[in-house]
Amino acid sequence: MGRVSRDKRDIYYRKAKEQGWRARSAFKLLQIDEKYNIFEGVIRAVDLCAAPGSWSQVLSRKLFLGETIVIRDKCCLFYNEIELQQKLERLEEYESHKNEDVKIVAVDLQPMSPIPGVIQIQEADLEADDESESNEATLLLGPGIGDSNLVLGPAQEIISHFKGHKADLVVCDGAPDVTGLHSMDIYIQAQLLLGALHISCNVLKPGGIYVAKIFRGKDNDLLMNQLLSLFKEVDIAKPSSSRNSSIEAFVVCRYYSPPKGFDPRLITPYLDVSHRDFNSLQGVNRFIIPFVVCGDVSAFDSDTTYPLQLRGEQPYQYRAPVQPPIAPPYSFHSNLKKDNLDHYLKKIDDAVKRAGLGSTT
Ligand code: SAM
Repeated sequence: MGRVSRDKRDIYYRKAKEQGWRARSAFKLLQIDEKYNIFEGVIRAVDLCAAPGSWSQVLSRKLFLGETIVIRDKCCLFYNEIELQQKLERLEEYESHKNEDVKIVAVDLQPMSPIPGVIQIQEADLEADDESESNEATLLLGPGIGDSNLVLGPAQEIISHFKGHKADLVVCDGAPDVTGLHSMDIYIQAQLLLGALHISCNVLKPGGIYVAKIFRGKDNDLLMNQLLSLFKEVDIAKPSSSRNSSIEAFVVCRYYSPPKGFDPRLITPYLDVSHRDFNSLQGVNRFIIPFVVCGDVSAFDSDTTYPLQLRGEQPYQYRAPVQPPIAPPYSFHSNLKKDNLDHYLKKIDDAVKRAGLGSTT
């Protein structure tokens, strides 16, 4: 690809470079703000999955440096080049406009270069399910319910930077490396969203806003209903800088209002109950789905091996399966065997192995 062809093809990519944004995704957050005014009154903000940092840049410029990012016309959110140059030249002036009350915390697995006013928590995995003390990124809870040090990992570290206060806004543009298999990508993205939501529930103040990337799939209604149990208003936004061909969209969840008495420190993304003392849980936190064993206690045990001849029954007699599979995946191999051609298969397999391509079997 020539040096300018992507610039030509992708206006947001080009504008991002012109304006000094580290990624074109900056425009997605700016366009979401244009619609929902998500930055209004925000003093404490969290950027989950922040690297390389264009969303953190938006938070920094809007909240910390107090810049007005002008929407010049319907198509482009930007300063033109001359205006941008003037702004860069006046950078020192911004020093005096800094809002030192603003605290922005950015979290990612990857390191990223510093951004004014942004505190970084690096190498933090939003999906970690390890509660070992050495893993700073762990999401899970300590062993004792009622213990004041319950929330470990990024959530606790974020709160410590806010001096015990909670966040007004949490944004998450997290995405796994896509495989191209939509169902798989949607599933992995949903797991990431769950990890981010778990952190958000622990760091967001009542009334706070949560914006997160989703991949649109057939289970979105279920996701929306889950979010609606925690937020009063939930929309799905598709900024015009997000390509139509992409299944990505963003949930904009406003007015965080978890059920009364809900303690987010008591949930884990994996519903891992092994270290919970359920007897100490109360109210909405003590919702336990009944686990019911069906069948009489005298029924056969599916994990036991019984003798072929069962007491009190007719002598054992082999019976063919009632309906064998009509097109089993192994039929190709078994047909070759049946026709005495399986030596060809062995030759092919040996050649594949020799070429370092694995095995056909
Ligand atoms: N918003 C960013 C920006 O504007 O520059 C772009 C984010 S990029 C699309 C997705 C990020 O998600 C990557 O930096 C990746 O490291 C991060 N990520 C993916 N899985 C993660 C996980 N389990 N925990 C933490 N970060 C994760």
